[in-house]
This record gives sequence, structure tokens and C-alpha cells, in this order.
Amino acid sequence: MHDNPIHVIGGGLAGSEAAWQIARAGVRVIVHEMRPSRCTEAHKTDALAELVCSNSFRSDDAETNAVGLLHAEMRRAGSLIMAAADAHKLPAGGALAVDRDDFARHVTGALASHPGVVIERGEIAGLPPAGWDSVIIATGPLTSPALSAAIQDLTGEGALAFFDAIAPIVHLDSIDPAITWRQSRYDKAGPAGTGADYINCPMSKAEYETFIGALIAGEKTSFHAWEATTPYFEGCLPIEVMAARGRDTLRFGPMKPVGLSNPHRGAERPYAVVQLRQDNALGSLWNMVGFQTKLKHGEQVRIFRLIPGLAQAEFARLGGLHRNTFLNAPKLLDAELRLRVCPRLRFAGQITGCEGYVESAAIGLLAGQAAAAERRGMAWQPPPLTTAFGALLGHITGGHLGADADGAGAFQPMNVNFGLFPPLPSGEAADRRGKAKERGAAKKRALSARALADLEAWLAAPQRSAAE
Ligand SMILES: Cc1cc2nc3c(=O)[nH]c(=O)nc-3n(C[C@H](O)[C@H](O)[C@H](O)COP(=O)(O)OP(=O)(O)OC[C@H]3O[C@@H](n4cnc5c(N)ncnc54)[C@H](O)[C@@H]3O)c2cc1C
Repeated sequence: MHDNPIHVIGGGLAGSEAAWQIARAGVRVIVHEMRPSRCTEAHKTDALAELVCSNSFRSDDAETNAVGLLHAEMRRAGSLIMAAADAHKLPAGGALAVDRDDFARHVTGALASHPGVVIERGEIAGLPPAGWDSVIIATGPLTSPALSAAIQDLTGEGALAFFDAIAPIVHLDSIDPAITWRQSRYDKAGPAGTGADYINCPMSKAEYETFIGALIAGEKTSFHAWEATTPYFEGCLPIEVMAARGRDTLRFGPMKPVGLSNPHRGAERPYAVVQLRQDNALGSLWNMVGFQTKLKHGEQVRIFRLIPGLAQAEFARLGGLHRNTFLNAPKLLDAELRLRVCPRLRFAGQITGCEGYVESAAIGLLAGQAAAAERRGMAWQPPPLTTAFGALLGHITGGHLGADADGAGAFQPMNVNFGLFPPLPSGEAADRRGKAKERGAAKKRALSARALADLEAWLAAPQRSAAE
């Protein structure tokens, strides 16, 4: 075990995974987590790797979905976050959802009981001491203000930020089973499901119109002046913002009625459907899928009780909105996630401009491996760009084109997606026969197969000493 420790600041998704990778590589690691002495606006517990909103790691389909592919790559690379997710998965159709408390307990326990890991509770309220020669900053979108300010001073960059929102959670015994029914879209069973994993609330055209009207008119939380120009993350828009974009936007988004048939109504198809996904192992709490919101709390209760089946809904948690901070990573970080102006500081997780639990943990995994290799005097090769790991890392540290004079095209947080992967060589999966949808799926399968093959080669490559 290397005695000179690496310091990881922040024990969230990225920091926990980074610490695990460092310890696995035989290097001592100290995790500095400010909770419970200081909390963020979204965290509720003192557990490491707390999931602040949804309990879903999204699709687990490694063949035709980029985040499912990232799951597969992380499992192959020995991820603690994926091991904990797999150990505590819940039925969720094609998605990998987890019991959030058991998941966080698993991660906390694994790190606390590892002989190479020390967990220190307390905020790092400024730049880390100069004596810490290798540090990973994984303090997330809600980095404490004192550390944020110190990073801004060091980089000379103004803060980059966007808004992220949280969806409400409902108690099962307050949902009306005479109106709702259980079914996964297209009856997909997925990694832990049966094909009947979601609770569905049907809406007629008239009910949908009334609901959209109420969402648009509902009273919202107001912004501070300094927040007014902050954009939303497009992948996680508040429900009322989507509704305001067009009356049918939600029917083509989270409330789409496809792949679902209401057994209470025979052949009659619902006009729109609200879905709830199981949130805990007991099955007593259910998360409103895609219903992140910045409506005032009283308005949420009033408006969401208009949903058929939720007239008596009791909410375990209401939705909310939080400002997220991230770095202009392509400019500030090198290919190993080190700050160019101060290479003893590495960054990982959502603060680097990736978006999502899985992506944050994946970047934590890479930062941990890179820092451990550096400590052991080994050269670390970033994963090939053809892998989901490499495509995501490439987006953060390299591939971005930069903003034009008006700021358009500026670096923005991104979920992993097939658009980040280099195209297949012409000829591969270039079969132009069949429907566009089938061709699209064939292309994704080919990209995934290439990714997994290239990942194996990367994992098998011999480690070299840095001097070579
Ligand atoms: C409100 C909100 C809702 C979100 N909803 C989702 C969602 O539904 N699905 C999804 O995939 N992603 C969601 N995200 C995005 C993102 O994936 C998560 O925030 C994820 O937890 C990021 O992982 P991370 O490790 O980078 O940060 P975090 O998991 O937030 O971990 C950072 C840790 O650092 C600690 N910390 C902060 N400052 C300091 C300091 N100075 N000293 C010591 N410790 C410090 C914090 O307490 C925290 O434990 C959401 C984000 C927010 C803010």
C-alpha cells in the first residue's frame, strides 16, 4: 500500500467511486465529506453516494442505449457504484433503479471497511492545503460556496451554471388502484422487473387539457436576480416549462401514452399517462417519472391531485429546483482531468460538466484510476474514444468546439449518448435495407460491440512506468 495518500474531496457518486478505484490500486485514500456537519440544498442524509433525486440509473440495455453501455463498461472496470446498484436493484422495466437507502449504505460500508480508506467528515472550505500533492475534487453540482469561490479565483473563470430539478415521491397507499394499473411500457421486464413495474395514471383529453392549463397557470418559485439568466438542463426540464412549450409537449414526453393499455377501460386508449416508478425496496414509495418541477409546494399538491388515481395522494417529498455549478472543463482540464494551472488538483463528477449519476460515477472511476497510476509512477492511458468511457471523457476534456462570439455553442453538461462516439468506418453497419428505426438500432448495436471490444483491449493493455 502506498503511504502518501490521495485526497478525495466529496463523497458523492464520483468521489466514492474514485476512492474505491484508488484503494483497489493499492494506494491510501482519504475521503473528505462535509455532511453531516454542513449539508447541501438537496442532500438529506450523511451517507456517501446519496442519490438526491430519482432512484434510477436509466436504461440497462448495453446493446442499443449509451448509458446501458456505460453500465456494462463500469461493471467490467470493477465499479463499486455499479456493484451496489446491482445488489439493490428494484423492478423498473428496462431501467436499473435502486433502493436509495440500501444503495448508499452499501457504498458507505464498502469504503468504511476498506483498510486503505479513511473517511473524514468536514468541509474543505477553500483550496486544499499545499501539502496535499494529489487531490480529486468531486464536490458535485452543489459544491460549497467557499470551495467554489476558491476554484474560481484559481481558474479566473466566471461560474458556469444551470438548473436541475427534483420530482415528487408519493406514498403507495395514497394511490387509487381502482383507477391506476401496473405495467411497464411495452411490457418490458428489464434487469429486475416483471413487465408490470410502473403504476400508470390514465388521462382523457379533457383531463389532460385541464391539467396542462393548471400547470401553466400554477404559481412557481421565483428566481433571484442573479439566477434569471441561468439556463435549464434540457434533459431534465421542469414539467411546467415543458407544458409552456406547447400543449402536446408532455404527451410526446414523459406523459406519452404509447406501449400501455388500461385494463379498466377495455380497448379505449388513454390520451396521456403519468407513470410512477418504485423508489424503495419495500415498494411503499413511488417516484413521479419526469415530474421535476419548480411549482410552489402548495401548488404541487393541488395540481398533482388533479391526476386520475392521485386525488388523495400523500407526498413523501415534493419537487424542487437547484442551481448547479460546473467548470469550463475543455478549457481548464487536461486529458487526465487535472487542472492545467494546478495539476495536483484533479476534478471528477458532475462539476466537470458531465450530467447524471452514472456519468458522474464513471468520471470518478477514471479520475481515481488516473490518480492512482500517477501515484504509483505509472503512465495512465485514457480509454479509447470508441468506448462510452472515452466518448464521455473526450466530451469533457477535448472534443468540444467552443463558443462563438455570442456564447452560442458554449460547453454545456451532457449525458452520455451515441452522438459523442466517433462514427463507424464506412461499410460497417452500413446496411441501408430495412426501416430507419431498425437501421438505427443496428448502428447502435455495432457501436456498442466496438466499444466493448475496445474496452477489453484497453483493460488488458500492460501498465507502463511513467519513465518509459
Ligand atoms: C437537484 C438535483 C437533482 C438531480 N437529479 C438527478 C437525477 O434525478 N438523476 C441523475 O442521474 N442525476 C441527477 N442530478 C445530477 C447529478 O447526477 C447528481 O447531482 C450526482 O449526485 C452528481 O454526482 P457527484 O459525485 O458529482 O456529486 P454529488 O453526488 O453531489 O457529491 C458531491 C459531494 O461533495 C460534498 N461536498 C460539497 N462541497 C464540499 C466541500 N467543500 N467539502 C467537502 N465535501 C463537499 C457534498 O456533500 C456531496 O456529498 C441531480 C442534481 C441535482 C443538484
